[in-house]
Amino acid sequence: MNSALYFEGSSEGLTELANQPVAGPITEPRSEPDHAHVVIRDVHKTYSTGTVKVEALKNINLTIGRGEIFGIIGRSGAGKSSLIRTLNRLEDVTSGQILVNNIDVGSLRERDLVTLRRRIGMIFQHFNLLHSKTVFENLALAMKAAGVRDKAAIRQRIDELLALVGLEGKAQVYPSRLSGGQKQRVGIARALMLKPKLLLCDEATSALDPETTHSILSLLKDIRDKLGLTIILITHEMSVISEICDRVAVLEQGEVVESGPVWKIFSQPQHEATRALLAPLRKDLPDALLADLKPKPVHTGSRAVVRLTLAGSGQKELPLHLLASLGTDTKLLQSDIEYVQGHVMGRLLVSLPTEDGKLPESFSTPVFSDTEVLGYVTPSA
Ligand code: ADP
Repeated sequence: MNSALYFEGSSEGLTELANQPVAGPITEPRSEPDHAHVVIRDVHKTYSTGTVKVEALKNINLTIGRGEIFGIIGRSGAGKSSLIRTLNRLEDVTSGQILVNNIDVGSLRERDLVTLRRRIGMIFQHFNLLHSKTVFENLALAMKAAGVRDKAAIRQRIDELLALVGLEGKAQVYPSRLSGGQKQRVGIARALMLKPKLLLCDEATSALDPETTHSILSLLKDIRDKLGLTIILITHEMSVISEICDRVAVLEQGEVVESGPVWKIFSQPQHEATRALLAPLRKDLPDALLADLKPKPVHTGSRAVVRLTLAGSGQKELPLHLLASLGTDTKLLQSDIEYVQGHVMGRLLVSLPTEDGKLPESFSTPVFSDTEVLGYVTPSA
């Protein structure tokens, strides 16, 4: 094993690293994002219970760059937890390889594995805090378990991290006195105690309300930028992916069905599973419109209701004059436009006059990646 590769710029092996002082300046330079940090190669995972076998992961191949925030999304049972747990070998793979900093995680002996796990931070959906211990004691445990005895160093590190996660003054509080968001901030501080370069997030915001989710995701992004961390998160919520991830892989029945930059996956979802995961982000048709919508024009004055999709292919904005190409008698019924990684994307719902039951010949939509006639309405006189 080439342990020098584990921590760049250092000749220390995994074992020596367990004894390295962990207090010190909290801001570290951001590493190059394009350098592979985690490589998942041909990974299969089969659970066997008696005669029943479940293939939880099938032929997974992913490379996660240093400094990236990488999302793994999928429906329940898709294999997300199994995959994230193989990265620090909480689960063994059945076949294939996991490389973290070029170290084959599967080849580590128990002692080195313990050290590796200490250097990979992990946060959980239900925070996993000890309720009989204060915030300070919860955080100190991580360092004590790693063999750090220097009380001043522990105190310094805890002070630094509580400031980083916005919990100054909460060191002596018990978790039961904290909100869900504050508990997760403690969870994040605990995960960072031993200065990991890799942070795994297991449905970290699934137990939180939308506003708190937003603040925790902002904190994770901020921490990635300040500490140069690589973050791998699993979630079943596309809103989490769109808010902080650089790239995403979609898991379905144990397989990666698509992966790539978030804006691309959002704008051109290829797989049914991806489209299903995106569905909650889409606005429904207004009820009043739905009630009037007919499959065919019933009147010469019927108007076509058309959904126009913006795929975000490099556009940073939507010049309104492009809408003029739809014709001057176009009415905007609904718009649902957002930015994902700086790309404008979304959908517009418009109504247009029909000519002999068809869209006008002049109808052209160069800026939209897709147009779909949903039905027809007859305006009241
Ligand atoms: P997700 O996190 O996407 O919900 P999981 O990784 O938990 O998916 O599960 C993937 C599949 O593996 C599911 O069919 C699940 O029932 C099965 N599975 C997960 N853990 C075990 C286990 N310890 N023993 C047997 N089957 C398991």
